[in-house]
Amino acid sequence: MAEEVNSDEVARLQTSYWSAQAVAAYSQKAQPFLNAIADGIFTSVEVRNWLIAQTNAASSYKSAAILIEEQKAVRWHKKPTLQPFWANYHCGRDADCTCRIVGSKSLESDAIFFLQNGSGRILAVHIEFKHPKEPFGFGQPEGYPMRADCFARTHRERSTLNAHDDWITVIFCDEATLSDQRLSHFERVITHREAAAMIPNYPCNE
Ligand SMILES: [Zn+2]
Repeated sequence: MAEEVNSDEVARLQTSYWSAQAVAAYSQKAQPFLNAIADGIFTSVEVRNWLIAQTNAASSYKSAAILIEEQKAVRWHKKPTLQPFWANYHCGRDADCTCRIVGSKSLESDAIFFLQNGSGRILAVHIEFKHPKEPFGFGQPEGYPMRADCFARTHRERSTLNAHDDWITVIFCDEATLSDQRLSHFERVITHREAAAMIPNYPCNE
């Protein structure tokens, strides 16, 4: 018996296919930038201080160490992911969780890095990366602090998430995005121009 597929269903599938393609294209395009950000954070205390500058973590995490092997060991304790060990953290609790606004999709932090200060406290730095003209998804900026707070409260129940005490959210975006009110959901806003001046190997083709 032939399967009936009505035209509404076809249209819906095509729309979701194309939006999935667009998301995949954006995330592939973001990878060289995120790789450069990760390298800078992993290798330079100046980059780490700059990353958290002007946030409420700036003084308590000044000249903090970066947890690299610790993060890899936890994130990859079962098996390595295709992406780098610091990339693409989802909450994963979907419907049950409070870390997204009503009606929005379950979204992710593009990257998380863990800084440890001299008193042993650990800061999770959640990073969002936006290309010029790349729109926010519905509820995406609002979800960043909600997810960061969720992760800080529930890390003990999550086998692939490092323990941490504090969190901040940081966005990398272009100058045209600076007028977007929704940037208030990030403690730190860094433009691509500022990043290119600070981070070696930051692609500067924007
Ligand atoms: Zn959550």
